[in-house]
Amino acid sequence: MPTLYDRVKSGEFLFLDGGTGTELTRRGLVHGNAPCWSAEAVLGQPDLVRTVHEDFIRAGSDIIVSDTFRASALHLATCGMDNRWEEINTTAVRLAYEAIENVGAKRQVHVIGSISAIPPDGDWSPETIREQHSRQSVALAKAGAEAIHVEMINDARWGELALDGASDAGIALWAGFSCSRDERRRPVLSASGMLLEEALGSLLSSRVKVVCLTHTMASDIGACLEVLRQQWVGPIAVAPHASRSPVPNQSVADTYTPEEFRAKARQWITSGVRIIGGCCGITPDYIRTARDGIQLLA
Ligand SMILES: [Zn+2]
Repeated sequence: MPTLYDRVKSGEFLFLDGGTGTELTRRGLVHGNAPCWSAEAVLGQPDLVRTVHEDFIRAGSDIIVSDTFRASALHLATCGMDNRWEEINTTAVRLAYEAIENVGAKRQVHVIGSISAIPPDGDWSPETIREQHSRQSVALAKAGAEAIHVEMINDARWGELALDGASDAGIALWAGFSCSRDERRRPVLSASGMLLEEALGSLLSSRVKVVCLTHTMASDIGACLEVLRQQWVGPIAVAPHASRSPVPNQSVADTYTPEEFRAKARQWITSGVRIIGGCCGITPDYIRTARDGIQLLA
């Protein structure tokens, strides 16, 4: 069986899943503490998490991202769940594999582990934050994740710490950049405002195997892709929002339909993108519609 990295390297078209957090909310998950929604779901409603994964697999996702966004011990300390961080990460990966098993799809489906580059609340030293990213990534790899997706790099300082810590896991790294545009319409990291061009220069290294544009508005993807392609010849994934709100417990207002998503995805593919998925607001319907339309191009 080829590994995920073999398939990515061969240039195969692959589909990621969509927004697990917003999908959990849409199906009734009540968020107690905003930063800890993924952990609360894994511990409190594992069946719901597994079902969301299953529905994305049925819709055509080849890669499931574990429900572990912001689930390092330091992030979870905010909600008093830090003593269960390892169990949460291990369980989340297991739920994704159980979903694959339950669906029994004929095609091969992979699991990658999500960590968040957003720093935990509190006044922590960079070394402590790096250590937490390292521990979470090592646990995800040990549980069976094939890669670590460092999501939400919206500030190069935090991105560097997260990528550096995650590299301790010894598996492929995906660098997930959150890109927006400044008042001059130039692509920038969405929190720090640093030019994307500059951020890529300092953050891309041989340990990064896939660059993903995610937690990014679909309307900004084209401009961000243009900058990325000047500096990166490796595999590119695109997984935009379909929602104005990246926070799962806020209301989700779709800004485009699954059919419009499919049309956008076709454009991204002609720009060299081989992995398509989504984040906040992207439901299984979007993945199914995009996959049905795009398979013909592959
Ligand atoms: Zn998002």
